[in-house]
Amino acid sequence: MNPEALSALGDLFGDRLLTSLETRICYSFDATRKRFLPDAVVYPVNAEEVRQAVLLANLHRFPVVPRGAGTGFSGGSLPVRGGIVLSTERMDRIVSIDSGNLYAVVEPGVVTEALKLEARKRGLFYPPDPASLKFSTVGGNIAECAGGMSAVKYGVTRDYVLGLEAVLGTGELLRTGVATAKGVVGYDLTRMLVGSEGTLGIVTRATLRLLPHPEAAVTLLAFFPTNRDASGAVNAIVAARVTPSAMEIMDRTAIDCVQAVAPVPLPGGTGSALLLEVDGTNDSVRWEADRLEEACRAHGALEVRRASDAGGRDDLWKLRRSISPALLRVAPVKLNEDIVVPRSRLADMFAFLSDLSDRKSVRIVNFGHAGDGNIHVNIMISGADTDETRRAEEAVAEVFRKTVEMGGTISGEHGVGISKAPFLEMEVGPLGVAVMKRLKECFDPNGILNPGKIFLDEAAVRG
Ligand SMILES: Cc1cc2nc3c(=O)[nH]c(=O)nc-3n(C[C@H](O)[C@H](O)[C@H](O)COP(=O)(O)OP(=O)(O)OC[C@H]3O[C@@H](n4cnc5c(N)ncnc54)[C@H](O)[C@@H]3O)c2cc1C
Repeated sequence: MNPEALSALGDLFGDRLLTSLETRICYSFDATRKRFLPDAVVYPVNAEEVRQAVLLANLHRFPVVPRGAGTGFSGGSLPVRGGIVLSTERMDRIVSIDSGNLYAVVEPGVVTEALKLEARKRGLFYPPDPASLKFSTVGGNIAECAGGMSAVKYGVTRDYVLGLEAVLGTGELLRTGVATAKGVVGYDLTRMLVGSEGTLGIVTRATLRLLPHPEAAVTLLAFFPTNRDASGAVNAIVAARVTPSAMEIMDRTAIDCVQAVAPVPLPGGTGSALLLEVDGTNDSVRWEADRLEEACRAHGALEVRRASDAGGRDDLWKLRRSISPALLRVAPVKLNEDIVVPRSRLADMFAFLSDLSDRKSVRIVNFGHAGDGNIHVNIMISGADTDETRRAEEAVAEVFRKTVEMGGTISGEHGVGISKAPFLEMEVGPLGVAVMKRLKECFDPNGILNPGKIFLDEAAVRG
């Protein structure tokens, strides 16, 4: 980055422009553990400063990479071509909550859990619940269209974004959408920006839909001999027209990881488990929980545990919540994929993954949001053995091919970033890629915003 550009940024941001190596290292990585050093980090406090930074970037032609908490799993916030990281940490105000019209207006750096808690105090509910909610930001959730455990009933971040304010790659400030329950005027630019991974605009404010908070919840943990039995129960629950607020599946590969560090008593012969939850009124949750239990027992459940008080429900969640921390003990590196298959093909995908693990001699740990057909496929690697890394990468490519062949998608939550860029065309086809590139041109003609993402950039993929 040229000294003139740095000096202009200094005039704009003062001591909120940082260029020390220590700071640049702190903003050089995300959850992929790949590293790319930015030239500088800036901390705007309002949309006008974001706009001025993007205008300078157009003048001096340097990349601007928006960043929330850096928890992304696809490399979205990595400055693969240098330039500045624009951190939204200091734009973290919940501007207002309108309890009558059921929406909140927030800045992008608000941590997801902070919004959920503020809404809860007013008897309201902001449903998106990525497992990273204690540290990831609303801006990052919008840019990745984050999902979570409750997506099976409540949908994903996209379903709660009513309107946005965003600085485009040109430096123009665009306002999209509505603050009303409905709105269909013109093209849906709000949806265009959601999931665009910081490549079309930098979100500076969001209007988010809220719901009344459910009154009660019941949690069930059911153990099955095989994934096929558990998947059968999932499909039976859907057929029974009950929509749980969580429907998580844990393959034996995932259960074993937890058992090694924080054992949970299991019935003999357990090969798979389902964590189920229903929410609603006190009466409705009892009735729905009964239907879930019946479906599990009809599909060979070895045991079904159930709780409706907070402590008991927490205990049942332990098995599911311990998987990610337990994985840290298994291997230092995981290739964490988030494929989605039609729900009816869940058992076939689990069988494929088991066979793939044997064929490639790599450890694969599987669990996920069964209600959405969304499986987190974690290919564990030591990082020291180059042949193991090669086999793991081949396994990822096979998983993606099989997913598309089954009518699924290669990412349900984490986005493309740099990790899935080589596979974009495999899913959306050459015309799909070409149209996406035309849209990118329209929002960001000089390629300022987050270059090297979504579309294949060999240098970025290598890391
Ligand atoms: C332990 C753990 C658990 C996770 N669980 C889930 C899960 O359950 N579901 C799920 O979907 N994801 C999950 N993730 C992934 C990650 O937390 C989400 O993708 C999250 O939305 C990223 O938010 P962030 O603030 O960290 O964004 P970052 O990682 O900083 O950025 C992500 C992308 O958003 C862009 N961006 C950030 N802010 C803005 C903005 N204001 N305007 C425009 N673009 C912006 C960045 O450029 C980048 O492309 C998990 C990650 C971890 C580490």
